[in-house]
Amino acid sequence: MKYQFPKRIQDMTPYQPITGDYQIRMDANESYLNLSDTQWQRIQARLAEVAYNRYPDPYTVALGEKFASFYGVDPQFVVAGNGSDEIISLLFGTFFDEGDTVAVFQNDFSMYGVYCETYGVSCKALPKEDNLTINVEKTLQRMKEENITGIIFSNPCNPTSLGLGKEDVRKLIRGTDALVILDEAYMDFWGESLLNEIGEYENLIILKTCSKALGMAGIRLGFLVANPKIADMVRAVKSPYNVNSLTQVVGEELFSEPEKIRTATAEIVENKNRLEQAVKSLAVDYPNIFTKVYDSCTNFVFIKTPYGKEIFQELLHRSIAVRFMGDYLRISTGSKDENSFLIRELQDILQGLIK
Ligand SMILES: *Cc1c(COP(=O)(O)O)cnc(C)c1O
Repeated sequence: MKYQFPKRIQDMTPYQPITGDYQIRMDANESYLNLSDTQWQRIQARLAEVAYNRYPDPYTVALGEKFASFYGVDPQFVVAGNGSDEIISLLFGTFFDEGDTVAVFQNDFSMYGVYCETYGVSCKALPKEDNLTINVEKTLQRMKEENITGIIFSNPCNPTSLGLGKEDVRKLIRGTDALVILDEAYMDFWGESLLNEIGEYENLIILKTCSKALGMAGIRLGFLVANPKIADMVRAVKSPYNVNSLTQVVGEELFSEPEKIRTATAEIVENKNRLEQAVKSLAVDYPNIFTKVYDSCTNFVFIKTPYGKEIFQELLHRSIAVRFMGDYLRISTGSKDENSFLIRELQDILQGLIK
């Protein structure tokens, strides 16, 4: 029989990152902070000791313990992945049967829908409120009506930057038998994590990543946290050597300095707050251009604007990359200087738009 791609992937196209060299990158929610010299020296020393001819530890024991102690969870509950993207892909590929329907929200992380398609999992996009918040009661009602077996969402949300408080998230988890996959990629910037009560839930998976607050997007390291029944199933279906030795060592070093992580996170939040204030005052001066600036619980600001495309392109000409998403712009915080530069350029661009 002649080989053909399965129907469900025939129209898929490769992910298109922004290409080109831009002086200021505010498009991918990464951290603007790179390793300090002392961190790099310690990592280099560790990298010199790696047995490059041997396979890595399939269960990332040393790394898992460091992660668990930083977040105050039981290491039994923790499984590491090659970025949390790999874990999301694995869950969509193995945790759902044909006939299952997984709920996602409109205006949430686009990869959820992509993996649904990739694995032929039926996917139901549930609406958010007009102000982009999640209504738990309505969501639970819809989940019942649609026979939902799993739901995945980011909290705080990428791209809206909005957070759903602990009590609401608990209501959602307790109100359903479906598997709840709670992506806390940005929770380090906010204080409403459910990580330390993970043991209370049979149907909850929490996802974490080192790519955002921890500033390690390049090493590809993410984690799943769930009760051992779920965690062991993930260990059973994952590829054994999914986290390479170099990543494991760098991750161990990273979590060895919890104070550094906290200081860096606080600095990022401070810069995001200043950026948000500055963008909000632009919205006061140009209410027809920045029609809404959302209250961010993350390291980026989310702006509603009918001029997204023009602003995005003007910023690119000035070597600043942000993310254009239809009616919205998403701008990750940079350093203090980068943010000041951005705001000056934005002022100039918005001024030009009203002429
Ligand atoms: C960035 C991001 C991730 C991906 O994290 P990686 O660990 O780099 O794969 C997952 N979820 C959300 C919501 C994100 O914004």
